[in-house]
Amino acid sequence: MTELSPRPLPFEPYKTKVVERIPNPSREDRERALERAHYNLFNLRSEEVRIDLLTDSGTGAMSDQQWAALMLGDESYAGSRNFAHFEETVRSLTGFPYIVPAHQGRAAENLLFSSVCRPGSIVPNNMHFDTTQAHVLHQGATPVNLAVPEAYDPVSDFPFKGNVDLAALERLLREAGPGKIPLIMVTVTNNTGGGQPVSLENFQGVARVAADYHVPVYLDMCRWAENAYLVREREPGLGGRTIPDIGRAFFDLAAGATMSAKKDGLVNIGGFVATRDEPLAERLKEALILYEGFPTYGGLARRDLEAISVGLTEATQLDYLEHRIAQVRYLAALLEEAGVPFFHPVGGHGIYLDVRRFLPHLGDDDLAGQALVVELYREGGVRSVEVGALMFGTEGAAASRSLELVRLAIPRRVYSASHLAYVADVVGRVYARRTEIRGLRMTYRPERMPHFTARFAPK
Ligand SMILES: *Cc1c(COP(=O)(O)O)cnc(C)c1O
Repeated sequence: MTELSPRPLPFEPYKTKVVERIPNPSREDRERALERAHYNLFNLRSEEVRIDLLTDSGTGAMSDQQWAALMLGDESYAGSRNFAHFEETVRSLTGFPYIVPAHQGRAAENLLFSSVCRPGSIVPNNMHFDTTQAHVLHQGATPVNLAVPEAYDPVSDFPFKGNVDLAALERLLREAGPGKIPLIMVTVTNNTGGGQPVSLENFQGVARVAADYHVPVYLDMCRWAENAYLVREREPGLGGRTIPDIGRAFFDLAAGATMSAKKDGLVNIGGFVATRDEPLAERLKEALILYEGFPTYGGLARRDLEAISVGLTEATQLDYLEHRIAQVRYLAALLEEAGVPFFHPVGGHGIYLDVRRFLPHLGDDDLAGQALVVELYREGGVRSVEVGALMFGTEGAAASRSLELVRLAIPRRVYSASHLAYVADVVGRVYARRTEIRGLRMTYRPERMPHFTARFAPK
């Protein structure tokens, strides 16, 4: 790199075969869209959005190999060869013997939690994701977040902010008594807490404590490959190992996992539950038939399963992961130059702006995170999402939470460095006029997961 390029540009390990035009709504279009959407960006039409960083879930670009795989769809209701390939791929990756497909992560969560939870159950997690928390609550159970204290400090450079506080976990298991805790969940990477990795050493600790109390450990493995990449980079002794090898070190300690293949499966739809527990697998399949479909398709087209098989493998390629994480760091470097406060260190799938430092003049009842989301859209048509009081409310695990973030999630293999530079520019301009930003009030609050469908108005 020369003086002209002070930062290393992330090198895309792919080239373009199909393109999609990027919309360019005018300022007036954006103002109108905000009003029509009741200031909830989930209500925008995609043609009103210039750069869409709402989520990295199911928004990635599939490879030529995946598109080709779709043509191999064997759409048999039962016994499709695509299921056999999918099952074999997931088995060889994870070592879990029983694989139950589902149409996405939350469907997998529904199957698992409805099969193991009872009213009064307690489910510990490093940090529950929104749908995970909602499914635990839906069973009348209580979600408990047990991430290490560093996870709540946006400034600390602690390398494993996804880690579980082992002493707190031990205390909970001891005090809850037998039968109260059907499973322990560990989310890799910790999406809610900034896409932060869980170290293998910490996960070994979780498995040890869990074994002492005879409680199974499940992984929320949505971003398991990104977690493995960060662990490979940061954890002593893991440097030379491959991504599948590091992944396997985690899976070997777990009783099972839930997966949204819309993340590290590199597809637009799909997921699964995996387990070592045969009787549980039978119950999962019964629930599957009721809610999703027959166990050899799980609410998906069979061709989707074929695309997942390819995607799961591509997600472990080092050049792919290197580029993905380099993109996040590239955006971070540009934001750092503009003095914009964000959650440190940057994790695997996006930048999480630190709302409390970004908008210190707004109070708890100003919905500051949502106000920032609205301003990023107003300034440059960038769509992001609040990850804070609005997404997590004050129910369940959220009672203990104290992070107020706005997530700029980077879709996989979609945007280039110049798109990210545009985003940094927009965020920088909003930061420069931050003192003018006013709060919002909620005009409609749905009962569950308010961020998806709530309505707002300017204060
Ligand atoms: C996306 C996600 C889920 C839910 O998956 P969907 O496919 O969106 O239903 C669960 N846990 C985590 C950590 C996630 O990021």
